[in-house]
Amino acid sequence: MNANPVQELPGTDDSPSVAELGVTGHAQQELHHRAWTTTRCQFGDSVFVRGVVEISNHCRENCHYCGMRRENRDLKRYRGRLDALLELLVHRRPGSITDLNLQAGEDPVAVREIAIPLIRTLRRETPLGISVCLGTLSKDLSTELLEAGATTYIIKFESSQEALYRSFEAPGTLTERLTHIRWLAGNGWNVSSGFISGLPGQGIDGLLGDVRAALDLPLIGCSISPFVPGESTPLRGATSGGFDPTLNAMALLRILRPNWVIPAVSALNIVGADLGYRGGLRAGANLCTINLTPPEMRGDYLLYKRDRFIMDEERVLSAVAHEGLTVSRKSLAAFLGSIAQVHP
Ligand code: SF4
Repeated sequence: MNANPVQELPGTDDSPSVAELGVTGHAQQELHHRAWTTTRCQFGDSVFVRGVVEISNHCRENCHYCGMRRENRDLKRYRGRLDALLELLVHRRPGSITDLNLQAGEDPVAVREIAIPLIRTLRRETPLGISVCLGTLSKDLSTELLEAGATTYIIKFESSQEALYRSFEAPGTLTERLTHIRWLAGNGWNVSSGFISGLPGQGIDGLLGDVRAALDLPLIGCSISPFVPGESTPLRGATSGGFDPTLNAMALLRILRPNWVIPAVSALNIVGADLGYRGGLRAGANLCTINLTPPEMRGDYLLYKRDRFIMDEERVLSAVAHEGLTVSRKSLAAFLGSIAQVHP
């Protein structure tokens, strides 16, 4: 892995265009190749592998694009058991993961009763870097998570278009969400954000606005998830986001932010036909995620009805090897720590 985590590359300015986002054919191959080269130059041939475990599917929010929204009465709600999660994560986690992400709907009960004690124990008993994706929480609760030992907060802004954000009932207001992202970044967290590519009504200009909004935030990384209509959501009849614009947006982010952490998301398998997830690795992703959510809980997440698209360790390692890459032994948390030392 490159010793200098903030190496700059030539030929990158900070103003991506609609034309770049919409490229196809040979020009698209060139864009993705440039993103690939940028990634290899920055991170070598290795990618980070992070486990994710979903600790609760309760959510007080009501986002139209998400099956966990509070008005979805079809979903059986679940919170994980602390002892079972500890047994899994301390003693039976896959050997390839160096980091762990704890994820849930916006559920402060699960944060207090599961996430915080879990993080304290993991911090004591494992070398795992720990990130959380737990929604917009109070400043006190966010600080408790940090003090327990988590270091990265994943909080997506989902859409940079105020009207879309409001119409899809995303959490709070867009301004509040962006303000909270900046607050987290200013109060000890590495912050990774994200947005959805292909939301109904977004358009290519909207996607470009999302890329620019991400570039404008104090982030260490960003995910781009193609929109996939959930069957028990108000958007169930909508069309999925496109594979190519999603990959092009990922490639642009990589070229413009060489040292960011950009995940390949499993939803690429749904919209990306044969290439799917591996297309993300070719377009600048440097993080793979292995889903560790216990099987008895998976049935309660609508996403798992598409089980064949979920990335387990075997599928991740196969995709990584297929692209001629290797798994990093340095954790994401250690990498981010090294950036902080260079740019305190
Ligand atoms: S996207 Fe997040 S905050 Fe919105 S309903 Fe789903 S879990 Fe809740």
